[in-house]
Amino acid sequence: MEQCSEEDKKRFVEETVEKYARFINPGLVRLFKFANFNTVEWKGKGAKVWDIFGNQYIDCIGGFGVFNVGRNHPRVVEAVKRQLDYLPLSTRTLFNRQQADLAEMLAQITPGELQYSFFCNSGAEAVEGAIKLARFYTGRKKLVSALGGFHGKTMGALSVSGREVYKKPFEPLLPETYQVPFGDAEAMAQAVDEQTAAVILEPIQGEGGIILPPPDYLSEVRKICDARGALLILDEVQTGLGRTGAMFACEHYGVVPDILALAKGLGGGVLPLGAFMSTPQIWTVFEDNPFIHSSTLGGNPLSCAAGIETLKVLQEEEIPQQAARKGEYLLSALQGLAIQFAPLIKEVRGKGLLVGVEFFDSDVASLLAMEMAQRRVLVAYTLNNPKVIRLEPPLVITKEELDLVLEVFEASLKSVQGILEEIGG
Ligand code: PLP
Repeated sequence: MEQCSEEDKKRFVEETVEKYARFINPGLVRLFKFANFNTVEWKGKGAKVWDIFGNQYIDCIGGFGVFNVGRNHPRVVEAVKRQLDYLPLSTRTLFNRQQADLAEMLAQITPGELQYSFFCNSGAEAVEGAIKLARFYTGRKKLVSALGGFHGKTMGALSVSGREVYKKPFEPLLPETYQVPFGDAEAMAQAVDEQTAAVILEPIQGEGGIILPPPDYLSEVRKICDARGALLILDEVQTGLGRTGAMFACEHYGVVPDILALAKGLGGGVLPLGAFMSTPQIWTVFEDNPFIHSSTLGGNPLSCAAGIETLKVLQEEEIPQQAARKGEYLLSALQGLAIQFAPLIKEVRGKGLLVGVEFFDSDVASLLAMEMAQRRVLVAYTLNNPKVIRLEPPLVITKEELDLVLEVFEASLKSVQGILEEIGG
């Protein structure tokens, strides 16, 4: 296809868009076209993607934070190719070495007594499993989570997520789910009681708009859970595996959860892989009937091979440390731009390479994303807070690429400012 004429490529794009409109979702076509995401992706490497015409983009969306080790990391790709020739999927009745190795490695790198893993295919599935485990172990039903939180779009995960627009059409959701403002330990203390199975939180809210909690919030929540016998589930689907400058964001706050949910970067940006983990004590409830929770494809050897190599790369290439350094650089440069464009930007915040720029107006945020796409840097707003543009590039992004992102950000802000002046905004 790369060798084809421009005409053939244009036809290829038209056909793809047409198929989206007829067989996937016409609304998505309108949205993508409106946002200038109007081409077909073709290949990726590190922090870059190329479309079918050979146009190069710096990808600061990264599948919403999937590419921690970069796109197509050669070691992960090689590990997957090796496994592919032997046993991509499991019998589900014989022991599988890849799953055993990955579970052991996760036990070694996670904090506290987290030791056992159940593997699945996505973040939402990891959250579903975490909720079921908490209910099973405690024998309680009630779940407390945070407003603005995001845990996925399956029924259970949606029930503990915090934006009405995504929930309302699907009600009734899980009963006995309660939401409190994120960062408010007092509100949490009032909501959690002796009927509470678990509190589920992201250590730093991603889709809620990259919201960092007050420094002692998570340790307060930990104490509240312990005092009432409720479990603490931390959803590190987006913050985990180096994204925030530590292997797990909970390490910044010195808090260990009872149950940890992971996905996104776990498959190395090559394959889908999720997991929820817990302690030997809590996992005892799964012993009597090991099939009480199961998944046909979750934790398949191919994905686990990707996971094993990803964890090695994360450690050997010191990816979390890279994210910490690069994140500081990006954050301080963006804070400079926030001063320069003070009438547009309300705040810049983040940790590691999970960075959010909050605008006063969500239309300005959308306009900026469109302007940046035109200049071939991909960013997007956060799902539960459209006023915030998130930048979460692959953690291997280079200094030169970050500088280019900053240049494009500034040029796009100037354009947006010009457009607003023209329309008298
Ligand atoms: N939890 C968090 C914190 C997330 O950010 C997401 C997705 O963005 C999910 C869960 C859901 O993951 P998935 O889309 O893989 O189901």
